[in-house]
Amino acid sequence: MKRTLNIFALLAALTLCTVSSSYAQKKPIIGVSSFVESGSVRAGTTYINSVRRAGGLPVVIPLTKSEEEIDAYLNQIDGIILIGGEDISPLYFGAEPSLYLGEVVPDRDEYVIILIKKAVAKGIPLLGICRGVQVLNVAMGGTLIQDIPSEIQNPIQHRQNGPRNYGSHTIKIEKGSLMAKLLGEKDVAVNSFHHQAVKDVAPGYKVTATAKDGIIEAIESQDGKSYGVQFHPEGFVSSGDKTFLPIFQHLVKLAAEYAAKK
Ligand code: MN
Repeated sequence: MKRTLNIFALLAALTLCTVSSSYAQKKPIIGVSSFVESGSVRAGTTYINSVRRAGGLPVVIPLTKSEEEIDAYLNQIDGIILIGGEDISPLYFGAEPSLYLGEVVPDRDEYVIILIKKAVAKGIPLLGICRGVQVLNVAMGGTLIQDIPSEIQNPIQHRQNGPRNYGSHTIKIEKGSLMAKLLGEKDVAVNSFHHQAVKDVAPGYKVTATAKDGIIEAIESQDGKSYGVQFHPEGFVSSGDKTFLPIFQHLVKLAAEYAAKK
């Protein structure tokens, strides 16, 4: 009887080990950046759902200025998504505010720039979306157009009037880039909800997609670990349209590789 119990205990322990390790392998933890509004920590459900659809396990990294807490999160997570939002303070890229600069949230800028610098230094894969790609570029030493209509000649409309899963303007994708691998080399219609954009690309990064008026719509790092898009792939993915799902699946794949090396 004692022997039988021991065998059961051993089997149970083995099963638990197998289940927990395969779960960890299948679900890399993707930290989603957040903001604070009306006394609540917020991160859009469309981003969270896109991580789920791509096979990742989403966790929200609450806005904080504590570097200790950010370090603690970075020790636990395997990948990061930087979500959309307000304008970035031009002081971070050595410019004075344009008359057409929109709302700036200093606490959010500070939190996310610390998060990006530490994550990149650690080699954690990172995807920036809209404000996310802009702040990634700024944190890595690049600059921004503060307001497209007042700074660019003959711009197209980058603040569309249409649903989140509607592609209102096309982008040209650089051959041989990560974006080409994920979306193909043909022009593709993307949604557009921005008036700021990447201007000078940060050292170590390159442009991988542009709109027809020259506005930068995607960048990636030369080491391939961080990349970003000016459009909102989560607007499509969360509605069930899989065209842009590979953008999230790639992050989850990089995150799984990172997790395996930890
Ligand atoms: Mn656009």
